[in-house]
Amino acid sequence: MKLFFASHNLDKKKEIEYIVSSEKILVLYIDDFPKYPEVEETGLTLEENAILKAEKGFEFTGLDTFAEDTGLFVDYLSGAPGILTARYAGEKAAYSDNCRLLLENMKTAPKEKRKAYFKTVVAFKQKNGTELFTGICEGKISEKQAGNNGFGYDPIFIPNCYEVTFAQLDKEIKNKISHRAKAVDKFSDYLKRKFGA
Ligand code: IMP
Repeated sequence: MKLFFASHNLDKKKEIEYIVSSEKILVLYIDDFPKYPEVEETGLTLEENAILKAEKGFEFTGLDTFAEDTGLFVDYLSGAPGILTARYAGEKAAYSDNCRLLLENMKTAPKEKRKAYFKTVVAFKQKNGTELFTGICEGKISEKQAGNNGFGYDPIFIPNCYEVTFAQLDKEIKNKISHRAKAVDKFSDYLKRKFGA
């Protein structure tokens, strides 16, 4: 089964390559479609943005396409950065700028009020419709950055049941327990059930 993963984000690509392990699934990435356009994320929810990206991929490549949208939701900040996770510190913000701003905004948050979760929505677009798969990883925001693995907010997110950040964990562990792993695992189960892939 040949699928297209519609994303310009190389860090997400690396994790998808790691998580999708079926030998019956061949995933193509934007490297195979050098002219693949940037898709503006104009949706108001992760679901809408994931669907937008999957539909664009399907339209452009003609292949069954999956795409994902991810957000970090922090209790103390009333759910921010949420849908704006990628652009928290500005339109072209670097991962480090986003982490710095989030820690700054959490400066007054005591230890017991640092709860947060990542949510990933995977949208799978085929000719006859779109399916959604969701994964959530709960944890808390650390008090300072730590670790070099992963990407994005990994240096400041401590998943439940661990004492260290995602960026300090081996990729084998992150890719088992993460929001993305959970959403993609559900998607893989669906492919297995429906297509034997
Ligand atoms: P989007 O899904 O492309 O809108 O991007 C969401 C943003 O969330 C990314 O730019 C990263 O900053 C962040 N992000 C997404 N997934 C992860 C993750 O697994 N760990 C840490 N940060 C992430």
